[in-house]
Amino acid sequence: MKILDGIAGAPGVVFGKMLYFDKKAGNSKEISLDEAVEKCLEKVRRMYDKALSDLGEDKAKIFSAYEMLLEDAMFTGPIKELIESGRAPEDAVTEVSESMSAILLKKESEYLRQRADDIMNVGNMIKETLCGADSDFTMPDGNEKYIIAARELTPVDTMLFDHSRLLGFVTKEGGATSHTVILAKSIGIPAVVGVSELTEEVCCKEAYLDGYSGKFVVEPNEETKKIYDKKVSEELEFIKSLDTIKQNDTYTSDGERIKVAINIGKPSDLKDIENQQFDGVGLFRSEFLYSSSKEKPSVNQQYEAYKKVIDLVYPESVTIRTLDVGGDKQIQYFNTPKEENPFLGNRGIRLCLANEDIFLEQLKALLMAGADKKLKIMLPMVTRIEEITRTRELVEKAKEELKNEGVTVSANLELGIMIETPASAIMSEVFAKHCDFFSIGTNDLVQYIMSADRGNSAVEEIYNPYNPAVLRMINKVINDGAKAGIEVSVCGDLAANTDFTEILLGMGLKKFSVPLPMINRIKKKISDINLFSAQKLVESVLSAEDENEIIKIIRKG
Ligand code: PEP
Ligand code: MG
Repeated sequence: MKILDGIAGAPGVVFGKMLYFDKKAGNSKEISLDEAVEKCLEKVRRMYDKALSDLGEDKAKIFSAYEMLLEDAMFTGPIKELIESGRAPEDAVTEVSESMSAILLKKESEYLRQRADDIMNVGNMIKETLCGADSDFTMPDGNEKYIIAARELTPVDTMLFDHSRLLGFVTKEGGATSHTVILAKSIGIPAVVGVSELTEEVCCKEAYLDGYSGKFVVEPNEETKKIYDKKVSEELEFIKSLDTIKQNDTYTSDGERIKVAINIGKPSDLKDIENQQFDGVGLFRSEFLYSSSKEKPSVNQQYEAYKKVIDLVYPESVTIRTLDVGGDKQIQYFNTPKEENPFLGNRGIRLCLANEDIFLEQLKALLMAGADKKLKIMLPMVTRIEEITRTRELVEKAKEELKNEGVTVSANLELGIMIETPASAIMSEVFAKHCDFFSIGTNDLVQYIMSADRGNSAVEEIYNPYNPAVLRMINKVINDGAKAGIEVSVCGDLAANTDFTEILLGMGLKKFSVPLPMINRIKKKISDINLFSAQKLVESVLSAEDENEIIKIIRKG
Protein backbone atom coordinates (compact mmCIF):
# COMPACT_ATOMS: atom_id res chain seq x y z
CA MET A 1 0.00 0.00 0.00
CA LYS A 2 1.11 3.57 -0.70
CA ILE A 3 -0.52 6.73 0.68
CA LEU A 4 0.52 9.73 -1.39
CA ASP A 5 -0.11 13.36 -0.46
CA GLY A 6 -1.19 16.03 -2.88
CA ILE A 7 -3.27 19.20 -3.02
CA ALA A 8 -7.04 18.90 -2.63
CA GLY A 9 -8.31 20.14 -6.00
CA ALA A 10 -11.99 19.27 -6.51
CA PRO A 11 -14.27 17.68 -3.85
CA GLY A 12 -15.39 14.04 -3.65
CA VAL A 13 -14.07 10.60 -2.59
CA VAL A 14 -13.94 7.70 -5.06
CA PHE A 15 -12.56 4.17 -5.35
CA GLY A 16 -11.63 2.52 -8.63
CA LYS A 17 -9.06 1.22 -11.05
CA MET A 18 -6.30 3.54 -12.23
CA LEU A 19 -5.34 4.32 -15.79
CA TYR A 20 -2.08 6.12 -16.40
CA PHE A 21 -2.24 8.63 -19.21
CA ASP A 22 1.18 8.41 -20.80
CA LYS A 23 1.91 10.54 -23.79
CA LYS A 24 4.99 8.49 -24.63
CA ALA A 25 2.85 5.46 -25.46
CA GLY A 26 2.12 5.26 -29.17
CA ASN A 27 2.70 3.22 -32.26
CA SER A 28 6.36 4.36 -32.45
CA LYS A 29 6.36 4.78 -36.24
CA GLU A 30 8.34 7.84 -37.23
CA ILE A 31 6.73 10.26 -39.69
CA SER A 32 7.69 13.48 -41.50
CA LEU A 33 7.14 17.00 -40.18
CA ASP A 34 4.39 17.72 -42.72
CA GLU A 35 2.59 14.51 -41.80
CA ALA A 36 2.95 15.28 -38.10
CA VAL A 37 1.59 18.81 -38.53
CA GLU A 38 -1.32 17.46 -40.58
CA LYS A 39 -2.11 14.87 -37.87
CA CYS A 40 -1.95 17.54 -35.18
CA LEU A 41 -4.29 19.76 -37.18
CA GLU A 42 -6.81 16.94 -37.50
CA LYS A 43 -6.55 16.33 -33.80
CA VAL A 44 -7.02 19.93 -32.65
CA ARG A 45 -10.01 20.32 -34.99
CA ARG A 46 -11.59 17.22 -33.43
CA MET A 47 -10.79 18.58 -29.97
CA TYR A 48 -12.38 21.91 -30.91
CA ASP A 49 -15.64 20.23 -31.92
CA LYS A 50 -15.68 18.07 -28.80
CA ALA A 51 -14.90 20.97 -26.48
CA LEU A 52 -17.53 23.09 -28.18
CA SER A 53 -20.29 20.55 -27.62
CA ASP A 54 -19.18 19.37 -24.16
CA LEU A 55 -17.79 22.49 -22.57
CA GLY A 56 -18.73 25.47 -24.71
CA GLU A 57 -17.12 28.11 -26.83
CA ASP A 58 -15.01 29.60 -24.08
CA LYS A 59 -13.07 26.36 -23.46
CA ALA A 60 -13.06 25.42 -27.17
CA LYS A 61 -11.31 28.57 -28.31
CA ILE A 62 -7.95 27.32 -27.02
CA PHE A 63 -8.05 24.73 -29.82
CA SER A 64 -8.69 27.33 -32.51
CA ALA A 65 -5.58 29.13 -31.19
CA TYR A 66 -3.63 25.85 -31.60
CA GLU A 67 -5.01 25.43 -35.10
CA MET A 68 -3.90 28.93 -36.11
CA LEU A 69 -0.43 28.24 -34.81
CA LEU A 70 -0.13 24.94 -36.69
CA GLU A 71 -1.13 26.72 -39.90
CA ASP A 72 1.24 29.63 -39.31
CA ALA A 73 4.29 29.52 -41.61
CA MET A 74 6.11 31.85 -39.17
CA PHE A 75 6.10 28.87 -36.81
CA THR A 76 6.51 25.85 -39.12
CA GLY A 77 8.81 27.61 -41.67
CA PRO A 78 11.85 27.97 -39.38
CA ILE A 79 11.38 24.35 -38.20
CA LYS A 80 11.54 23.13 -41.81
CA GLU A 81 14.64 25.25 -42.48
CA LEU A 82 16.44 23.73 -39.50
CA ILE A 83 15.51 20.19 -40.58
CA GLU A 84 16.76 20.94 -44.10
CA SER A 85 20.04 22.16 -42.65
CA GLY A 86 20.48 18.74 -41.02
CA ARG A 87 18.98 19.17 -37.55
CA ALA A 88 16.99 16.24 -36.10
CA PRO A 89 13.23 17.02 -36.49
CA GLU A 90 12.49 16.85 -32.76
CA ASP A 91 15.41 19.14 -31.95
CA ALA A 92 14.29 21.58 -34.63
CA VAL A 93 10.80 21.78 -33.09
CA THR A 94 12.26 22.25 -29.60
CA GLU A 95 14.60 25.00 -30.76
CA VAL A 96 11.96 26.99 -32.63
CA SER A 97 9.23 26.65 -30.01
CA GLU A 98 11.59 27.52 -27.17
CA SER A 99 12.99 30.59 -28.91
CA MET A 100 9.54 31.85 -29.97
CA SER A 101 8.04 31.33 -26.55
CA ALA A 102 11.07 32.91 -24.83
CA ILE A 103 10.37 36.11 -26.76
CA LEU A 104 6.73 36.10 -25.66
CA LEU A 105 7.58 35.24 -22.05
CA LYS A 106 9.50 38.50 -21.78
CA LYS A 107 6.38 40.50 -22.68
CA GLU A 108 4.52 42.36 -19.97
CA SER A 109 1.14 41.27 -21.25
CA GLU A 110 -0.31 38.20 -19.52
CA TYR A 111 -2.12 37.45 -22.77
CA LEU A 112 1.13 37.20 -24.75
CA ARG A 113 2.78 35.18 -22.00
CA GLN A 114 -0.07 32.69 -22.25
CA ARG A 115 0.57 32.43 -26.01
CA ALA A 116 4.06 31.22 -25.04
CA ASP A 117 2.39 28.27 -23.29
CA ASP A 118 0.36 27.60 -26.44
CA ILE A 119 3.55 27.47 -28.52
CA MET A 120 5.19 25.03 -26.11
CA ASN A 121 2.04 22.85 -26.00
CA VAL A 122 1.79 22.75 -29.78
CA GLY A 123 5.55 22.10 -30.08
CA ASN A 124 5.23 19.15 -27.69
CA MET A 125 2.26 17.82 -29.61
CA ILE A 126 4.25 17.89 -32.88
CA LYS A 127 7.22 16.17 -31.22
CA GLU A 128 5.07 13.39 -29.78
CA THR A 129 3.43 12.87 -33.17
CA LEU A 130 6.79 12.91 -34.98
CA CYS A 131 8.01 9.95 -32.97
CA GLY A 132 4.75 8.09 -33.42
CA ALA A 133 3.39 8.77 -29.93
CA ASP A 134 0.22 10.41 -31.07
CA SER A 135 -1.36 10.03 -27.62
CA ASP A 136 -4.78 9.18 -29.00
CA PHE A 137 -6.03 7.71 -25.80
CA THR A 138 -8.83 5.18 -25.75
CA MET A 139 -10.33 3.73 -22.63
CA PRO A 140 -10.57 -0.06 -22.33
CA ASP A 141 -13.82 -1.48 -23.77
CA GLY A 142 -16.83 -1.67 -21.49
CA ASN A 143 -18.53 0.77 -19.17
CA GLU A 144 -16.13 0.66 -16.24
CA LYS A 145 -15.14 4.05 -14.81
CA TYR A 146 -11.52 4.93 -14.06
CA ILE A 147 -9.37 7.32 -12.05
CA ILE A 148 -6.96 8.93 -14.51
CA ALA A 149 -3.40 9.57 -13.34
CA ALA A 150 -0.91 11.63 -15.34
CA ARG A 151 2.16 13.78 -14.91
CA GLU A 152 0.02 16.70 -15.97
CA LEU A 153 -3.09 17.16 -18.06
CA THR A 154 -3.25 19.82 -20.74
CA PRO A 155 -6.53 21.06 -22.26
CA VAL A 156 -5.92 18.79 -25.29
CA ASP A 157 -5.34 15.75 -23.08
CA THR A 158 -8.48 16.19 -21.05
CA MET A 159 -10.59 16.26 -24.20
CA LEU A 160 -9.37 12.74 -25.10
CA PHE A 161 -11.36 11.15 -22.29
CA ASP A 162 -14.95 10.03 -22.35
CA HIS A 163 -16.20 12.19 -19.47
CA SER A 164 -18.97 9.75 -18.57
CA ARG A 165 -16.33 7.12 -17.67
CA LEU A 166 -14.21 9.26 -15.39
CA LEU A 167 -14.10 8.80 -11.64
CA GLY A 168 -11.45 11.40 -10.89
CA PHE A 169 -8.10 12.93 -11.82
CA VAL A 170 -4.77 12.72 -10.03
CA THR A 171 -1.68 14.52 -11.33
CA LYS A 172 1.94 14.88 -10.33
CA GLU A 173 2.08 18.56 -11.29
CA GLY A 174 -0.34 21.43 -10.97
CA GLY A 175 -1.83 23.65 -8.29
CA ALA A 176 -5.30 24.31 -6.89
CA THR A 177 -6.29 26.49 -9.86
CA SER A 178 -4.76 24.33 -12.61
CA HIS A 179 -6.64 23.32 -15.72
CA THR A 180 -7.18 19.81 -14.31
CA VAL A 181 -8.97 21.23 -11.27
CA ILE A 182 -11.16 23.59 -13.27
CA LEU A 183 -12.20 20.78 -15.60
CA ALA A 184 -12.85 18.36 -12.71
CA LYS A 185 -15.13 20.93 -11.08
CA SER A 186 -16.98 21.58 -14.29
CA ILE A 187 -17.76 17.86 -14.77
CA GLY A 188 -18.31 17.26 -11.05
CA ILE A 189 -15.54 14.71 -10.25
CA PRO A 190 -12.82 14.85 -7.55
CA ALA A 191 -9.24 15.85 -8.33
CA VAL A 192 -5.98 15.68 -6.40
CA VAL A 193 -3.02 17.54 -7.93
CA GLY A 194 0.63 18.14 -7.08
CA VAL A 195 1.25 14.50 -5.99
CA SER A 196 5.04 14.68 -6.26
CA GLU A 197 5.57 10.93 -5.80
CA LEU A 198 3.11 9.88 -8.48
CA THR A 199 4.58 7.47 -11.09
CA GLU A 200 3.15 5.34 -13.88
CA GLU A 201 3.46 2.28 -11.64
CA VAL A 202 -0.02 3.13 -10.34
CA CYS A 203 -1.48 1.99 -13.65
CA CYS A 204 -4.19 -0.67 -13.39
CA LYS A 205 -3.99 -0.79 -9.60
CA GLU A 206 -6.91 -0.04 -7.35
CA ALA A 207 -6.92 3.21 -5.45
CA TYR A 208 -8.89 5.69 -3.36
CA LEU A 209 -8.87 9.34 -4.34
CA ASP A 210 -9.91 11.85 -1.69
CA GLY A 211 -10.49 15.30 -3.17
CA TYR A 212 -11.24 16.73 0.29
CA SER A 213 -7.95 15.88 1.99
CA GLY A 214 -5.71 15.60 -1.09
CA LYS A 215 -4.84 11.95 -0.27
CA PHE A 216 -4.31 9.27 -2.90
CA VAL A 217 -4.16 5.69 -1.60
CA VAL A 218 -2.85 2.98 -3.95
CA GLU A 219 -3.35 -0.75 -3.29
CA PRO A 220 -4.86 -0.15 0.14
CA ASN A 221 -4.47 -2.79 2.86
CA GLU A 222 -7.51 -4.24 4.60
CA GLU A 223 -7.41 -1.79 7.50
CA THR A 224 -7.18 1.28 5.24
CA LYS A 225 -9.85 -0.18 2.98
CA LYS A 226 -12.26 -0.20 5.90
CA ILE A 227 -11.57 3.48 6.66
CA TYR A 228 -11.86 4.58 3.04
CA ASP A 229 -14.84 2.40 2.19
CA LYS A 230 -16.63 4.28 4.96
CA LYS A 231 -15.61 7.61 3.38
CA VAL A 232 -16.78 6.45 -0.06
CA SER A 233 -20.13 5.28 1.27
CA GLU A 234 -20.54 8.52 3.23
CA GLU A 235 -19.82 10.38 0.00
CA LEU A 236 -22.37 8.28 -1.87
CA GLU A 237 -24.89 8.93 0.89
CA PHE A 238 -24.05 12.59 0.67
CA ILE A 239 -24.56 12.64 -3.10
CA LYS A 240 -27.84 10.75 -2.67
CA SER A 241 -28.96 13.25 -0.05
CA LEU A 242 -28.34 15.96 -2.63
CA ASP A 243 -31.14 14.45 -4.72
CA THR A 244 -33.73 15.40 -2.14
CA ILE A 245 -32.42 18.93 -2.02
CA LYS A 246 -32.12 19.20 -5.79
CA GLN A 247 -35.76 19.97 -6.45
CA ASN A 248 -36.39 22.15 -3.41
CA ASP A 249 -35.95 25.76 -2.46
CA THR A 250 -33.14 26.31 0.02
CA TYR A 251 -33.57 27.19 3.68
CA THR A 252 -31.08 27.34 6.55
CA SER A 253 -31.72 24.85 9.36
CA ASP A 254 -33.58 27.60 11.23
CA GLY A 255 -35.84 28.38 8.30
CA GLU A 256 -34.33 31.40 6.52
CA ARG A 257 -34.94 31.25 2.74
CA ILE A 258 -31.65 31.60 0.84
CA LYS A 259 -31.47 31.97 -2.92
CA VAL A 260 -29.02 29.84 -4.87
CA ALA A 261 -28.60 30.88 -8.50
CA ILE A 262 -26.22 29.63 -11.18
CA ASN A 263 -23.35 31.16 -13.16
CA ILE A 264 -23.25 30.49 -16.88
CA GLY A 265 -21.05 31.49 -19.80
CA LYS A 266 -23.32 30.54 -22.71
CA PRO A 267 -26.89 29.28 -23.31
CA SER A 268 -25.84 25.61 -23.59
CA ASP A 269 -24.64 25.67 -19.97
CA LEU A 270 -28.32 25.26 -19.13
CA LYS A 271 -28.61 21.84 -20.81
CA ASP A 272 -28.62 19.86 -17.54
CA ILE A 273 -31.22 21.81 -15.58
CA GLU A 274 -34.04 19.28 -15.73
CA ASN A 275 -35.51 18.72 -12.22
CA GLN A 276 -32.97 21.13 -10.82
CA GLN A 277 -34.45 23.90 -8.72
CA PHE A 278 -32.37 27.09 -8.83
CA ASP A 279 -33.09 30.75 -8.28
CA GLY A 280 -32.35 31.99 -11.75
CA VAL A 281 -29.04 32.93 -13.32
CA GLY A 282 -27.00 35.13 -11.02
CA LEU A 283 -24.21 35.72 -13.53
CA PHE A 284 -24.35 35.29 -17.30
CA ARG A 285 -20.87 36.20 -18.57
CA SER A 286 -21.50 37.69 -22.01
CA GLU A 287 -17.88 37.48 -23.22
CA PHE A 288 -18.38 34.22 -25.14
CA LEU A 289 -20.28 36.10 -27.85
CA TYR A 290 -17.37 38.44 -28.40
CA SER A 291 -14.43 36.10 -27.98
CA SER A 292 -15.74 33.22 -30.08
CA SER A 293 -15.39 34.94 -33.42
CA LYS A 294 -13.03 37.32 -35.12
CA GLU A 295 -15.89 39.71 -35.87
CA LYS A 296 -18.00 41.52 -33.32
CA PRO A 297 -21.41 39.91 -32.82
CA SER A 298 -24.40 41.62 -34.39
CA VAL A 299 -27.21 43.03 -32.24
CA ASN A 300 -29.38 40.19 -33.49
CA GLN A 301 -26.90 37.42 -32.62
CA GLN A 302 -26.63 38.84 -29.12
CA TYR A 303 -30.39 39.21 -28.81
CA GLU A 304 -30.89 35.54 -29.74
CA ALA A 305 -28.41 34.30 -27.13
CA TYR A 306 -29.76 36.48 -24.31
CA LYS A 307 -33.38 35.72 -25.19
CA LYS A 308 -32.74 31.97 -25.21
CA VAL A 309 -31.46 32.12 -21.63
CA ILE A 310 -34.14 34.51 -20.41
CA ASP A 311 -36.90 32.28 -21.86
CA LEU A 312 -35.40 29.05 -20.48
CA VAL A 313 -35.07 30.43 -16.98
CA TYR A 314 -38.38 32.34 -16.86
CA PRO A 315 -40.11 33.09 -14.43
CA GLU A 316 -36.80 33.25 -12.54
CA SER A 317 -34.58 36.21 -13.37
CA VAL A 318 -31.37 36.34 -15.39
CA THR A 319 -28.57 38.73 -14.53
CA ILE A 320 -26.56 39.46 -17.65
CA ARG A 321 -23.15 40.99 -17.17
CA THR A 322 -22.12 43.45 -19.84
CA LEU A 323 -18.93 42.75 -21.73
CA ASP A 324 -15.98 42.20 -19.38
CA VAL A 325 -12.84 42.12 -21.50
CA GLY A 326 -9.44 43.75 -21.24
CA GLY A 327 -6.98 42.57 -18.59
CA ASP A 328 -6.21 38.94 -19.42
CA LYS A 329 -9.09 38.67 -21.91
CA GLN A 330 -8.23 40.55 -25.11
CA ILE A 331 -10.48 40.96 -28.12
CA GLN A 332 -8.92 41.78 -31.49
CA TYR A 333 -11.45 44.27 -32.83
CA PHE A 334 -11.18 46.54 -29.77
CA ASN A 335 -7.68 47.42 -30.99
CA THR A 336 -6.55 48.15 -27.45
CA PRO A 337 -3.03 49.57 -27.46
CA LYS A 338 -0.48 47.54 -25.54
CA GLU A 339 -0.76 48.25 -21.83
CA GLU A 340 2.06 47.90 -19.32
CA ASN A 341 -0.38 46.83 -16.65
CA PRO A 342 -3.55 45.49 -18.27
CA PHE A 343 -5.30 44.38 -15.06
CA LEU A 344 -5.19 48.02 -13.96
CA GLY A 345 -5.89 49.27 -17.45
CA ASN A 346 -8.76 49.60 -19.82
CA ARG A 347 -10.98 46.67 -18.88
CA GLY A 348 -14.63 45.93 -18.08
CA ILE A 349 -16.92 48.94 -17.97
CA ARG A 350 -14.02 51.29 -18.74
CA LEU A 351 -13.39 49.63 -22.09
CA CYS A 352 -17.12 49.65 -22.93
CA LEU A 353 -17.45 53.34 -22.12
CA ALA A 354 -14.38 54.01 -24.26
CA ASN A 355 -16.17 52.20 -27.14
CA GLU A 356 -19.69 53.52 -26.71
CA ASP A 357 -20.87 52.39 -30.15
CA ILE A 358 -20.12 48.73 -29.33
CA PHE A 359 -21.55 49.13 -25.82
CA LEU A 360 -24.75 50.72 -27.17
CA GLU A 361 -25.28 47.69 -29.40
CA GLN A 362 -25.03 45.36 -26.43
CA LEU A 363 -27.47 47.48 -24.43
CA LYS A 364 -29.93 47.41 -27.33
CA ALA A 365 -29.71 43.62 -27.62
CA LEU A 366 -30.29 43.33 -23.87
CA LEU A 367 -33.28 45.68 -23.89
CA MET A 368 -34.84 43.75 -26.77
CA ALA A 369 -34.21 40.35 -25.17
CA GLY A 370 -35.80 41.42 -21.91
CA ALA A 371 -38.78 43.02 -23.65
CA ASP A 372 -41.58 41.02 -22.03
CA LYS A 373 -39.68 39.70 -18.98
CA LYS A 374 -37.66 41.02 -16.09
CA LEU A 375 -34.13 42.05 -17.05
CA LYS A 376 -31.14 42.57 -14.78
CA ILE A 377 -28.07 44.20 -16.31
CA MET A 378 -24.81 44.08 -14.35
CA LEU A 379 -21.70 46.20 -14.93
CA PRO A 380 -18.21 44.75 -14.31
CA MET A 381 -15.14 46.47 -12.83
CA VAL A 382 -16.96 49.58 -11.64
CA THR A 383 -14.83 52.03 -9.65
CA ARG A 384 -16.71 55.35 -10.01
CA ILE A 385 -20.32 56.50 -9.81
CA GLU A 386 -20.05 58.25 -13.17
CA GLU A 387 -19.62 54.85 -14.83
CA ILE A 388 -23.08 53.92 -13.55
CA THR A 389 -24.69 57.25 -14.43
CA ARG A 390 -23.17 57.27 -17.93
CA THR A 391 -24.46 53.73 -18.48
CA ARG A 392 -27.95 54.83 -17.41
CA GLU A 393 -27.77 57.64 -19.99
CA LEU A 394 -26.73 55.12 -22.66
CA VAL A 395 -29.58 52.80 -21.66
CA GLU A 396 -31.99 55.71 -22.20
CA LYS A 397 -30.38 56.47 -25.56
CA ALA A 398 -30.65 52.81 -26.60
CA LYS A 399 -34.34 52.74 -25.55
CA GLU A 400 -35.05 55.91 -27.48
CA GLU A 401 -33.38 54.67 -30.65
CA LEU A 402 -35.17 51.30 -30.46
CA LYS A 403 -38.53 52.94 -29.84
CA ASN A 404 -37.99 55.15 -32.89
CA GLU A 405 -37.44 51.98 -34.90
CA GLY A 406 -40.70 50.60 -33.51
CA VAL A 407 -38.99 47.91 -31.40
CA THR A 408 -40.46 46.91 -28.01
CA VAL A 409 -38.00 47.19 -25.15
CA SER A 410 -37.82 46.00 -21.56
CA ALA A 411 -39.93 48.08 -19.20
CA ASN A 412 -38.82 46.09 -16.18
CA LEU A 413 -35.12 46.80 -16.00
CA GLU A 414 -32.77 46.66 -13.02
CA LEU A 415 -29.23 47.98 -13.26
CA GLY A 416 -26.66 46.66 -10.80
CA ILE A 417 -22.91 46.34 -10.47
CA MET A 418 -20.27 43.77 -9.66
CA ILE A 419 -18.43 44.71 -6.50
CA GLU A 420 -14.97 43.54 -7.47
CA THR A 421 -12.75 46.57 -6.94
CA PRO A 422 -11.67 48.02 -3.60
CA ALA A 423 -13.07 51.43 -4.67
CA SER A 424 -16.60 50.08 -5.13
CA ALA A 425 -16.40 48.01 -1.93
CA ILE A 426 -15.19 50.94 0.18
CA MET A 427 -17.88 53.18 -1.31
CA SER A 428 -20.63 50.55 -1.29
CA GLU A 429 -22.84 52.61 1.04
CA VAL A 430 -22.87 55.46 -1.51
CA PHE A 431 -22.92 53.25 -4.61
CA ALA A 432 -25.99 51.44 -3.24
CA LYS A 433 -28.00 54.64 -3.84
CA HIS A 434 -27.21 54.41 -7.55
CA CYS A 435 -27.77 50.69 -8.10
CA ASP A 436 -30.61 48.21 -7.94
CA PHE A 437 -28.37 45.36 -6.78
CA PHE A 438 -24.80 44.31 -6.00
CA SER A 439 -23.04 41.06 -6.85
CA ILE A 440 -19.67 40.50 -5.22
CA GLY A 441 -17.07 39.21 -7.66
CA THR A 442 -14.64 37.66 -5.24
CA ASN A 443 -12.22 36.45 -7.94
CA ASP A 444 -11.23 39.97 -8.86
CA LEU A 445 -11.94 41.48 -5.44
CA VAL A 446 -9.33 39.21 -3.84
CA GLN A 447 -6.86 40.07 -6.61
CA TYR A 448 -7.24 43.82 -6.17
CA ILE A 449 -7.42 43.87 -2.37
CA MET A 450 -4.36 41.65 -2.03
CA SER A 451 -2.58 43.24 -5.02
CA ALA A 452 -1.84 39.73 -6.28
CA ASP A 453 -2.55 38.59 -9.85
CA ARG A 454 -5.25 35.88 -9.82
CA GLY A 455 -3.46 33.90 -12.54
CA ASN A 456 0.11 34.10 -11.28
CA SER A 457 1.18 31.02 -9.32
CA ALA A 458 4.19 32.90 -7.91
CA VAL A 459 1.81 34.97 -5.76
CA GLU A 460 -0.72 32.18 -5.12
CA GLU A 461 -0.09 32.36 -1.40
CA ILE A 462 -0.90 36.08 -1.29
CA TYR A 463 -3.98 35.74 -3.49
CA ASN A 464 -5.79 34.30 -0.51
CA PRO A 465 -9.56 34.60 0.06
CA TYR A 466 -9.09 33.63 3.73
CA ASN A 467 -7.25 36.89 4.36
CA PRO A 468 -9.12 39.06 6.89
CA ALA A 469 -8.84 42.11 4.62
CA VAL A 470 -10.99 40.28 2.05
CA LEU A 471 -13.55 39.02 4.56
CA ARG A 472 -13.92 42.39 6.29
CA MET A 473 -14.53 44.03 2.93
CA ILE A 474 -17.17 41.45 1.95
CA ASN A 475 -18.88 41.90 5.32
CA LYS A 476 -19.03 45.66 4.78
CA VAL A 477 -20.59 45.33 1.32
CA ILE A 478 -23.25 42.84 2.48
CA ASN A 479 -24.18 45.12 5.35
CA ASP A 480 -24.24 48.31 3.26
CA GLY A 481 -26.45 46.60 0.68
CA ALA A 482 -28.83 45.38 3.40
CA LYS A 483 -29.05 48.85 4.95
CA ALA A 484 -29.90 50.33 1.56
CA GLY A 485 -32.47 47.57 0.96
CA ILE A 486 -30.91 46.28 -2.27
CA GLU A 487 -30.15 42.67 -3.21
CA VAL A 488 -26.59 41.50 -2.56
CA SER A 489 -25.25 38.23 -3.93
CA VAL A 490 -21.81 36.63 -4.26
CA CYS A 491 -21.01 35.23 -7.72
CA GLY A 492 -17.23 34.76 -7.48
CA ASP A 493 -15.63 31.38 -6.62
CA LEU A 494 -16.03 32.00 -2.90
CA ALA A 495 -19.78 31.36 -3.22
CA ALA A 496 -19.05 27.79 -4.39
CA ASN A 497 -16.47 27.06 -1.71
CA THR A 498 -18.11 25.32 1.26
CA ASP A 499 -15.42 26.68 3.60
CA PHE A 500 -17.10 30.09 3.27
CA THR A 501 -20.81 29.20 3.24
CA GLU A 502 -21.37 29.66 6.97
CA ILE A 503 -19.35 32.88 7.09
CA LEU A 504 -21.28 34.42 4.19
CA LEU A 505 -24.61 33.43 5.77
CA GLY A 506 -23.48 34.82 9.13
CA MET A 507 -22.62 38.10 7.41
CA GLY A 508 -26.22 38.25 6.16
CA LEU A 509 -25.83 37.03 2.58
CA LYS A 510 -29.17 35.93 1.10
CA LYS A 511 -28.12 34.93 -2.39
CA PHE A 512 -25.32 32.72 -3.75
CA SER A 513 -24.53 32.23 -7.43
CA VAL A 514 -22.43 29.16 -8.31
CA PRO A 515 -21.50 26.89 -11.28
CA LEU A 516 -24.21 24.27 -11.94
CA PRO A 517 -22.16 21.16 -10.89
CA MET A 518 -21.60 22.75 -7.46
CA ILE A 519 -25.18 23.88 -6.78
CA ASN A 520 -26.48 20.93 -4.76
CA ARG A 521 -23.39 20.76 -2.52
CA ILE A 522 -23.95 24.43 -1.68
CA LYS A 523 -27.70 24.02 -1.16
CA LYS A 524 -27.03 21.09 1.19
CA LYS A 525 -24.38 23.01 3.11
CA ILE A 526 -26.74 25.96 3.58
CA SER A 527 -29.53 23.68 4.81
CA ASP A 528 -27.24 22.35 7.58
CA ILE A 529 -26.37 25.82 8.90
CA ASN A 530 -28.01 27.65 11.76
CA LEU A 531 -27.90 31.43 11.33
CA PHE A 532 -27.32 32.17 15.00
CA SER A 533 -24.17 30.00 15.08
CA ALA A 534 -23.13 31.49 11.74
CA GLN A 535 -23.29 34.99 13.21
CA LYS A 536 -21.14 33.86 16.17
CA LEU A 537 -18.62 32.40 13.71
CA VAL A 538 -18.47 35.72 11.86
CA GLU A 539 -17.69 37.56 15.11
CA SER A 540 -14.56 35.44 15.60
CA VAL A 541 -13.59 35.59 11.93
CA LEU A 542 -13.79 39.37 11.91
CA SER A 543 -11.57 39.65 14.97
CA ALA A 544 -8.89 37.35 13.49
CA GLU A 545 -5.57 38.90 12.58
CA ASP A 546 -4.44 36.73 9.69
CA GLU A 547 -5.54 34.00 7.28
CA ASN A 548 -4.09 31.16 9.37
CA GLU A 549 -6.24 32.16 12.31
CA ILE A 550 -9.30 32.28 10.04
CA ILE A 551 -8.56 28.86 8.53
CA LYS A 552 -8.28 27.42 12.04
CA ILE A 553 -11.61 28.97 13.06
CA ILE A 554 -13.36 27.64 9.94
CA ARG A 555 -11.96 24.12 10.18
CA LYS A 556 -12.75 23.84 13.90
CA GLY A 557 -16.29 25.02 13.35
C1 PEP B 1 -15.25 37.67 -10.24
O1 PEP B 1 -14.36 38.49 -10.53
O2 PEP B 1 -15.41 37.18 -9.11
C2 PEP B 1 -16.20 37.22 -11.28
C3 PEP B 1 -17.25 36.50 -10.97
O3 PEP B 1 -15.95 37.56 -12.56
P1 PEP B 1 -14.82 36.90 -13.50
O4 PEP B 1 -14.33 35.67 -12.80
O5 PEP B 1 -15.53 36.65 -14.78
O6 PEP B 1 -13.81 38.01 -13.57
MG1 MG C 1 -14.38 39.66 -12.35
